[in-house]
Amino acid sequence: MKKGERGQQTGLDALEMAVTDAGTEVLQYVPGYPITEAGQALGAQMAVNEKVAFEVALGASATGQRSMVLVKHLGANLLADPLSISPTHTIGAGLVVLVGEDVGPKGSQIELDVRHHAALCELPVLDPTGPKSLYPSIIEAYRLSERISAPVMVRMTFRPTETYEDEIHRTRILPGSKTFDRAIWGLTAKGRHQRYLRNVLPIIANASETTSLNFLESSGDLGIIACGRPAHLARDLQVSLLAPGYAHPLPWKMIERFISDHQKILVAEEPGPFVESRLRMSDKVCGKLTGHLPFGRLEAADLERALETIDKPGRQRYDVETANGRGQGSRTICDDCPYLPLYKAIKNLGVPVAGDAGCSIRAVRPPLDVVDVVYGLGSSVGVASGFAGKGIAVVGDYALAHTGLQGLINALYHGREVLIVLLKNEVAAMTGGQRVPDIVPVVEAVVPRVERLKMPVPQDEIEAVLKRELARPGISVVVASGRCPREPGHRLKEKSPREL
Ligand code: SF4
Repeated sequence: MKKGERGQQTGLDALEMAVTDAGTEVLQYVPGYPITEAGQALGAQMAVNEKVAFEVALGASATGQRSMVLVKHLGANLLADPLSISPTHTIGAGLVVLVGEDVGPKGSQIELDVRHHAALCELPVLDPTGPKSLYPSIIEAYRLSERISAPVMVRMTFRPTETYEDEIHRTRILPGSKTFDRAIWGLTAKGRHQRYLRNVLPIIANASETTSLNFLESSGDLGIIACGRPAHLARDLQVSLLAPGYAHPLPWKMIERFISDHQKILVAEEPGPFVESRLRMSDKVCGKLTGHLPFGRLEAADLERALETIDKPGRQRYDVETANGRGQGSRTICDDCPYLPLYKAIKNLGVPVAGDAGCSIRAVRPPLDVVDVVYGLGSSVGVASGFAGKGIAVVGDYALAHTGLQGLINALYHGREVLIVLLKNEVAAMTGGQRVPDIVPVVEAVVPRVERLKMPVPQDEIEAVLKRELARPGISVVVASGRCPREPGHRLKEKSPREL
């Protein structure tokens, strides 16, 4: 079925239509669950990291091009610096930040609620419940972004490839040529914030109250305030439902009326109790914090159970999930991985090892038990440079380009001790095998001596090289080149930048 025709449409269809109809010219993304497929489907350009992706979009916006940045929830941490500055600094053409939440979490080290970023940066975040509201949410986000001269966030709590809805009503916003207005420099930093508080926040608050994205249906004494995907689950429960179109700012007047019109309110949201925590002054309100709903992902049965017991104290009890219980206990480095002897060699060295949120995170559990700490993508070099004594940073080439290079520069500048083992397989293996930049010439330009290993190499030879480098004072780099056997199957088809 062609896009735009009557019938079942996915979140990806909704996204493609919205990006086309909004006249989006610049699309940037950083792969990672659950945003990879959306970035690929839109033909977005893959940036080395989220901050750079957002900076490119800011530049595009300043010069009159509508832009979009697609990141996973954790990516919002990285772009938070320019994101927090952009509302008061102002932008040019519309800029939308689309964030995929990993409720569960399924492919992330933590479960993060990106609505907190919106509140922190005083930015609006729209909260579609599925493909049907995703399309108008993005169109509204562009309109609002140009009206307030600030980025607008849209978050997805549903997976765009797995969610279907009926016909999406298309609209079109006229091509804009809004560029950055230098008049803002006539204000001080304080003045720019005062302007934002006085002129812009009331516009956003009003948009949240009056948007057609708000869904309200009244029936009986029980009410559910639901956000994102849980609003879908709540539709057939025969109780009143309020699904706000904006997660921040919330439509306070609407919520106040809804609470006063009902005897009990259940707040159904993912992943955390963002809305519920703001409504706790009312003893009518129940949800995750009161123990009526579980934290994280919700199912329809959770909502039904909570409604049945809403007059009693909440009783959510859960065991702390183990890796074995989740079926992740045996997830390790692939048997045919060219880097397997390297991991085994590292294990024999008995020094602390920092890994990255790439394949090396699979080496944290038995049988390898090699990597000790993993604090996120690109973190291993900085972390290992802080070890007491010379330890090892295992880093993939994408992780090094992402944010690892800054750790290397810092370690060089401060004369720290670290052995960096760079796994150069030229792809981001964990997110689908996307091609990554060759970072070795940059490393060679700043590190005087770089050892090379062409995998596969026997374990004892690797061990000898690593022992020698560990004994050497200062920074050592070993570049281990290999080809991931999963690569052809993993790699998603590269698309050229979208032509619109
Ligand atoms: S995905 Fe590729 S690089 Fe990663 S562990 Fe498996 S074989 Fe090795």
